Amino acid sequence: MSKLHSVRLPHFSGSAEQLTRKIPMPEIVAISMLQHIGAPCEPCVAVGDNVKIGQKIGDTEAFMSAPVHASVSGVVKEIKDVMNVGGRLCKTVVIANDNKNEMSPDIKPPKADTREEFIKAVRESGAVGLGGAGFPTHVKLAYDRSKVKIDYLLLNGAECEPYITSDYRELIENSDNVLAGIDLVMTKLEIPKAIIGIEADKPQAIAKLEKLAIRYPNISVQRLPSAYPQGAEKVLVHTLTGRIVGEGKLPSDVGCMVMNVSTAGFIYGYIKTGVPLVKRRITVDGDVVNSPANFFIPVGTLLHSVVGFADVRRQPDRIVLGGPMMGACAFDPDTPLGKTNNAVLLFGGTKERKQSACIRCGRCVRACAVNLMPTELESAYDARDAEALEKLKINLCMNCGACSFVCPAKRQLAEKNQLAKDFLRQSKAKQQGK
Ligand code: SF4
Ligand code: SF4
Repeated sequence: MSKLHSVRLPHFSGSAEQLTRKIPMPEIVAISMLQHIGAPCEPCVAVGDNVKIGQKIGDTEAFMSAPVHASVSGVVKEIKDVMNVGGRLCKTVVIANDNKNEMSPDIKPPKADTREEFIKAVRESGAVGLGGAGFPTHVKLAYDRSKVKIDYLLLNGAECEPYITSDYRELIENSDNVLAGIDLVMTKLEIPKAIIGIEADKPQAIAKLEKLAIRYPNISVQRLPSAYPQGAEKVLVHTLTGRIVGEGKLPSDVGCMVMNVSTAGFIYGYIKTGVPLVKRRITVDGDVVNSPANFFIPVGTLLHSVVGFADVRRQPDRIVLGGPMMGACAFDPDTPLGKTNNAVLLFGGTKERKQSACIRCGRCVRACAVNLMPTELESAYDARDAEALEKLKINLCMNCGACSFVCPAKRQLAEKNQLAKDFLRQSKAKQQGK
């Protein structure tokens, strides 16, 4: 099997060996109606309503979506437009916490005997991919069995970005549920085999999962190279199965379903208890943090509540939501954190990237897992040449940032690719007269 291009990154995983802690319950949560890929939900509560933990507060008829639930008990204070972590303005339900921690009386284990009931239950749980992509999980499970045959469930435990250890802690602290969740998905969907991919630099997690997986003959654990972007879906499929997800194709086109390990652990917990996705584990780390750790936070916790609680030696100059390679800088301390946030990274100083001319060293090309030519893409974008961008397959860029990371001239290649994709979309729309 040929090896895909990758880069070695420093890990800085100071939070890895710390048990997940809780932050004090916030006084306010702001729960965005869009915490997933797809259609936003519509609030199904009104200002002044009393809500309890786990109560549904937003839903939609759209298939590509997932409902949202109250993460604290209290009173709906406001419903207003707020910029979500993805930079989109969307309806957000603000709840004032009454600190009673009352659970919704509707919470009970769902009926999930058949495949259809199971998929419906997963939808009602509000599950989305917890690795950061936010793809509604029920949509992934509801593939058309007359057209698609899945023979591998692939569990993504790569967590290849520096600092982030939330999936690692899930594997260590919730390993039984992760395995039971995988087994449940395999049983309900009749998927014969599952492979859990974990980077080789996480030997404790590998050893624990290997030991427990003995109980499940069709689930195996595979060491992944500690290389970036090992966790990218197409890269993971190739490493674990040797199959290539071609251009415009999905893992299901090559018989694979990819799921994050934390999502599998959550699904099992939900089927057992009926408690929907109202909290998640996030890593708090960065060079100004004294004691990096993972924390459980209620969905909708405002960024400043996390930053205020973090043990820092000085106020951060930069806050990154997600990893340093693919995450986004936060500019508003009132940003509500959601289902897809796996890390809040706090850094001191501003790193100036002084760009110089390309020296044609080819490092960016050798770093790209999908064999693009970042330097050519940059030239095509600079010339606003839509045809060249299409020929150079800008659509395949995963925005992983590996090319920018290795560039000795500090050229902002991945950043340009994002702009280039947008430019291409706009020029196509113009051509079609939209
Ligand atoms: S950002 Fe795009 S072009 Fe750069 S290495 Fe990643 S996939 Fe390749
Ligand atoms: S890595 Fe940077 S300097 Fe080297 S070819 Fe790519 S853009 Fe040019």
